[in-house]
Amino acid sequence: MSEYFNKKGLRHDGRSVTDTRPITIEAGYVERADGSAYLEWGKNKIVAAVYGPREMLPRHMANPYKGRIRFVYRLAPFSVGERKNPRPGRRDVELSKVSGEALSAAALLENFPNTAIDVYVTVLDADAGTRIAALTAASVALADAGIPMKDMVTGTAVGRVDGKLVIDLDKFEEDAYDAVDMAVAMMPNTSEVVLFQMDGVINKKEYSELLKMAESKCKEIKAIQEAALKKKYEKEFNK
Ligand code: ADP
Repeated sequence: MSEYFNKKGLRHDGRSVTDTRPITIEAGYVERADGSAYLEWGKNKIVAAVYGPREMLPRHMANPYKGRIRFVYRLAPFSVGERKNPRPGRRDVELSKVSGEALSAAALLENFPNTAIDVYVTVLDADAGTRIAALTAASVALADAGIPMKDMVTGTAVGRVDGKLVIDLDKFEEDAYDAVDMAVAMMPNTSEVVLFQMDGVINKKEYSELLKMAESKCKEIKAIQEAALKKKYEKEFNK
């Protein structure tokens, strides 16, 4: 027995190796936004708000052939144990860039030349896996804003903890001595990967196994995203 797995092979919080933490999503959370979502993923709490398509300012940034997604990922200063400096750091800038690119792969931006679609995601409470949780929430917010997409963007972290391959590492597991943390986001219909980042060292066999695990989990998470959107619109139609 280790501190990461009990005798039955369950993780420190009772999950099996293929369980994510509980995920709940509410679409249409921010009144003022064109589209929005509130997501809880385990102890992560995240708000995503989308504004646009709207005129691209400054104008020299406008693309006459398609719209541009501007993704802003921020960890709130109170979201982590030590106060985070509210000024965006390199991590915020990096995650904003790769997440914006991931959404741009799915959104049909040719429909919106010269415009900006601003996606603001704030992590209120962080417990590892926030980049994927942020992207998952943002994808719901984008759909809620009525932006046509090829598919939802859905993700999960997968990795290795104490020699075992697992889905969705939390902060405790991410700090394991041999941890591998692989953030994967896909368009589940085609399994095209739109975001991939990894910490740690793994072999080819583990890598393919992890990708397979991520692929099937993304399909499950997409169903949660879709259910959140359906719930919002059913409520509106029944008003
Ligand atoms: P992810 O949240 O996508 O797993 P990281 O692996 O970079 O991204 O971060 C893991 C966790 O470490 C975060 O979810 C958060 O709980 C914590 N963390 C990240 N950045 C900071 C920071 N600047 N200060 C304190 N804790 C942080």
